[in-house]
Amino acid sequence: MDLVLSVADYYFFTPYIYPATWPEDDIFRQTISLLIVTNIGAYILYFVCATLSYYFVYDHSLMKHPQFLKNQVSREIKYTIQALPWMSIPTVALFLLELRGYSKLYDDVGEFPSGWFQLVVSVVSFLFFTDMLIYWIHRGLHHRLVYKRIHKPHHIWKIPTPFASHAFHPVDGFMQGLPYHIYPFIFPLHKVVYLALYVLVNIWTISIHDGDFRVPQILMPFINGSAHHTDHHIFFDCNYGQYFTLWDRIGGSFKTPSSFEGKGPLSYVKKVMEEKGNSHADKDCKNEKLLNGEFMKTE
Ligand SMILES: [Zn+2]
Ligand SMILES: [Zn+2]
Repeated sequence: MDLVLSVADYYFFTPYIYPATWPEDDIFRQTISLLIVTNIGAYILYFVCATLSYYFVYDHSLMKHPQFLKNQVSREIKYTIQALPWMSIPTVALFLLELRGYSKLYDDVGEFPSGWFQLVVSVVSFLFFTDMLIYWIHRGLHHRLVYKRIHKPHHIWKIPTPFASHAFHPVDGFMQGLPYHIYPFIFPLHKVVYLALYVLVNIWTISIHDGDFRVPQILMPFINGSAHHTDHHIFFDCNYGQYFTLWDRIGGSFKTPSSFEGKGPLSYVKKVMEEKGNSHADKDCKNEKLLNGEFMKTE
């Protein structure tokens, strides 16, 4: 975050906003700046990526599913807009610790090959570490003592759209984002890689709500995609994972997505539409026959 903040200070805060006498490393100034940057960044990331996904990836016929709520998209957006600022408060506290030098973030790659090798290893370990923690936190959020108050708002959307991706109770959103913040306090991670991963995990969160249930055949057993997560929204007690199916398999909560078996929400909508189409076609056929006098002839 110090990279983002130094850019924001250089181009915006120092010349236009704060008095020249207020030092850039003052903790109150850093807190205010982080709150502004985090909120603006979160809204931009959410609206740009979810909107692109909604118009170019999301299958809009899913909106005809009987479990799709009235005004669902605007409700998902409204819920997210209200929740993000609250989520940003504890997040900024962690960014502040990181900014004050308590994390293991570094900005020098070092000698090739070990420096670059460490970089690749850190990306893989970041993904596996956060996937594991999110799995257990998410499972914990389904415990009956906390589910109703904290996690249920995210399960209102049975047939989610990309706009449901960040529609969480603030505590829920922060808890599920916590593993991303914990990692650089335990393991060394390059600052730019961290920033890129942070953006990528947010895009991934949108992608598992995008209603595109396809996964490349070769990755099907390993990747937790939109098909898995939509089933999680519908059936509650399966597919808690984030990127991989690994922990669902270990934890006994893996379920083959209904979409992979032709029984998913999209297949359901298509079947209903076909049946409707057939009944319309039958009616049209009858009307045509009546017009042609065929029915009268048989009568
Ligand atoms: Zn979800
Ligand atoms: Zn859940």
